[in-house]
Amino acid sequence: MKYTPYIGRFAPSPTGPLHLGSLVAAMASYLDAKVHQGQWLVRVEDVDRDRNVAGADQHILASLQRCGMQWDGEVTWQTQREDLYEAALRQLGDNIYPCGCSRKEIADSQLRLGVAGNPNLVYPGTCRTGLAPGRTARALRLRTPQEPPCVIHFHDRFAGDISQDITDEVGDFVLRRADGFWAYQLAVVVDDGAQGITDIVRGADLLDSTPRQIFLQRLLGLPPPRYLHVPLVVNADGEKLSKQTGAQAFDTGAPAESLLGSALLPAARFLGLEVKADSVGAFWRAAVPAWDALLRAHGEAPHRP
Ligand code: GLU
Repeated sequence: MKYTPYIGRFAPSPTGPLHLGSLVAAMASYLDAKVHQGQWLVRVEDVDRDRNVAGADQHILASLQRCGMQWDGEVTWQTQREDLYEAALRQLGDNIYPCGCSRKEIADSQLRLGVAGNPNLVYPGTCRTGLAPGRTARALRLRTPQEPPCVIHFHDRFAGDISQDITDEVGDFVLRRADGFWAYQLAVVVDDGAQGITDIVRGADLLDSTPRQIFLQRLLGLPPPRYLHVPLVVNADGEKLSKQTGAQAFDTGAPAESLLGSALLPAARFLGLEVKADSVGAFWRAAVPAWDALLRAHGEAPHRP
């Protein structure tokens, strides 16, 4: 049987320091790579320049290293890879079109269509057949098939079988934004493809982006990765943990051993791993077989080269 070597990744956006929520995603992707004796890459997803916080990338990288998570190869930054996104746009050709609508116009049309409250702002297709006279192009959108609607099915290693009708639930989605920045959906698919990522392990907030990404992979002729979306750490109000919702950043200046109790053990507990350790090194020596056991308890027998 042909076995493709495992390549995983952690892809943080540099919008703030690493905290328990992002550490859980990093830890799960790292452990899954180790259990499969694969590579673990780190890619800084900094295409949304308005949200980047100066120095957050270095802070995240320092936190990973202090926690004992060493990546393979060089770290990549999406803002240094924009030629690849340009090339993907060219490859998509007539599948993309310029759109002159503002968010407000799309929200208003949703109100008229009676689908208000959908946070995804399903695009009504106003510019699909061309910009109306006098309108200027703002964003670039990808056409989703109309008849029949495009339903994407995939298997998630944690969440199980998932399907989403991207025509009705998402609509033609943005690949380059009105502010000129590349959209996450395009950049992530192009990079995962270019870096040969075989396994994506990340937070469950991205589960509903996955069908869009699979649709794009197919258009670009990229092989589909396997997916595992881990549950999100939420605060007492049920909100995803982030700097905005009060997550505590780790003190990267603290001695590495203090991160054991403040970061590594709580993240492992959240993932359902029984780990006892009195040092960072001992933590990882115990956490890798614990992740392996968790996968086997879920009926997976990890492949090794
Ligand atoms: N950059 C995204 C985030 O920090 C993660 C993207 C991904 O893992 O696909 O939420």
